[in-house]
Amino acid sequence: MSNKTLAILKPDCVRNNLIGKVTAQIQEAGFKINGLKMVHLTVDSANGFYEVHKERPFFNDLIKYMTSGPCVPIALEKENAVEDFRKLIGATDPANAAEGTIRKLYAISIQENIVHGSDSDENAAKEISHFFSRKELLDNNGWN
Ligand code: GDP
Repeated sequence: MSNKTLAILKPDCVRNNLIGKVTAQIQEAGFKINGLKMVHLTVDSANGFYEVHKERPFFNDLIKYMTSGPCVPIALEKENAVEDFRKLIGATDPANAAEGTIRKLYAISIQENIVHGSDSDENAAKEISHFFSRKELLDNNGWN
């Protein structure tokens, strides 16, 4: 059974020329790429994506960071995708992230933490549709 999750290679990942390294680590961990694009989020789109955090003190900084440059949303598939991807990226704060995780390897702060990963199957479905139309996803094109 294949589950889905949404990754976003955040603007610091793109800016620091880490798209290739991080994407390779994701694929080597067994995730299949079902959709991928580079987008520069508008403030409206970022507000919608992070709606659940709008009361948090860091919300405005988060929107500023996520709209500071292009990012790379990636729709992923794997058995147990949500949980396994959260394990692969590590804790939100890189200082607390386990050795070998993507955030431990590349992130510089709790905010600029390289990569997003959905936190539930339900949110994964919503987040994938935030960035991808059905036609943009491989599994809707009969290729897998
Ligand atoms: P995640 O699921 O591990 O990405 O963490 P959250 O859903 O709690 O937070 C969403 C994003 O907001 C994080 O990935 C960070 O980019 C940012 N963030 C979370 N906590 C903080 C914080 O305490 N301060 C700042 N400046 N940003 C934060």
